[in-house]
Amino acid sequence: MAEFTLDLNDDQKQVRDWLHGFAADVMRPAAAEWDEREETPWPIIQEAAKLGIYSLDFYAQQFFDPTGLGIPMAMEELFWGDAGIALSIVGTGLAAVGVLANGTEEQIGTWIPQMYGDVNDVKVAAFCSSEPDAGSDVASMRTRAVYDEAKDEWVLNGTKTWATNGGIANVHVVVACVDAELGSKGHASFIVPPNTPGLSQGQKFQKHGIRASHTAEVVLEDVRIPGSCLLGGKEKLDERLARAREKAKAGGGERVKNAAMATFEASRPAVGAMAVGTARAAYEVALDYAKTREQFGRPIIDNQGIAFQLADMRTQIDAARLLVWRASWMATTGKPFTSAEGSMSKLFASEVAKKVTAQAIQILGGNGFTREYPVERMHRDAAIYTIFEGTSEIQRLVIARTLSGMQIR
Ligand SMILES: Cc1cc2nc3c(=O)[nH]c(=O)nc-3n(C[C@H](O)[C@H](O)[C@H](O)COP(=O)(O)OP(=O)(O)OC[C@H]3O[C@@H](n4cnc5c(N)ncnc54)[C@H](O)[C@@H]3O)c2cc1C
Repeated sequence: MAEFTLDLNDDQKQVRDWLHGFAADVMRPAAAEWDEREETPWPIIQEAAKLGIYSLDFYAQQFFDPTGLGIPMAMEELFWGDAGIALSIVGTGLAAVGVLANGTEEQIGTWIPQMYGDVNDVKVAAFCSSEPDAGSDVASMRTRAVYDEAKDEWVLNGTKTWATNGGIANVHVVVACVDAELGSKGHASFIVPPNTPGLSQGQKFQKHGIRASHTAEVVLEDVRIPGSCLLGGKEKLDERLARAREKAKAGGGERVKNAAMATFEASRPAVGAMAVGTARAAYEVALDYAKTREQFGRPIIDNQGIAFQLADMRTQIDAARLLVWRASWMATTGKPFTSAEGSMSKLFASEVAKKVTAQAIQILGGNGFTREYPVERMHRDAAIYTIFEGTSEIQRLVIARTLSGMQIR
């Protein structure tokens, strides 16, 4: 087990500097253009693939870093470069994690390479869970998966929404309900292979921020997929459902719920790290500006009113990073999240990103309000962190329930 240390080792520093170079030289200069175009930045994903940044190998290396700091460090640097482009680069990872977490070795080997494609023909993947009537309330999901035993096929019907890369993905990972009476315990994840009839893109959303990342509805109409596309396989699903039914009869179900909670606690710090990246980017722009912009014959940072804001911004960013690193270290070293530390890190970092990016606009004055300077875009981008992967209210609910042991509503 890795001892906790805040010193990055030489390998980690090297990866951080390499990612920072890509973020500074490739992503940041392209950020405004792709934000305006509101399109997936395919050439930049391809460039990332050439360098090895857009690949399963890269994420696996970071994921298995024994200190737990590989993923948060990578996320912070990429999202420092640009949040919309970065989400286009790491969005496939969301779907890949869905397969890694639930799939068999054969499924992992078959589908993950197809999610990324290759350097000359890059592909993306989508993870589709949210629905128009099932956002925070995942248990009320309506998409159904019905098993056709005669053909050994699953038939999916429903509408997914807010899917990052939805409809443009080569591989879609779809969460669907196989037993409505079991709520979220009756859900299962499926692979929808490339070009499967019945899957289509619905509305593509025009968004407030992270506009270089494609977000759309995914419509599933009698989508037939082979039995082998059920992640984990039928036997495992049947066993899990039988256990859940037993527990439901006995009025239990806590263990199943706790396993799902532990997964979320482990994945939320990564979103916190994205927020830290955006916050740090806006803070740096504001600091530079405050040192060079002169009013009343002196740099504006010469006023405590500005300097103290910058001091607060930096303090909060560092505090957010520490919470993120703690939770990531806990996840990697198998420490129990007795106080919902993963949710804490996501809640705090995402709120800090919103606040710090707003302060950055204020420090840049009129310039901050224009698209000539990046802080306006960063502020729009930062708004997503308090929404996806569980809103701030849901994080507070999780933390409060964990601390109190009560079903706070
Ligand atoms: C850009 C973007 C990308 C996304 N990418 C994906 C993706 O790739 N895959 C995917 O499956 N989903 C994705 N999502 C969906 C995202 O996870 C949901 O938007 C999020 O979970 C919130 O659900 P909702 O939008 O339906 O809001 P709602 O659940 O309707 O919530 C609305 C408001 O009510 C509050 N609220 C709800 N319940 C409670 C409660 N019990 N107590 C207090 N307050 C409450 C919420 O906090 C929020 O403020 C994405 C969303 C966006 C915007």
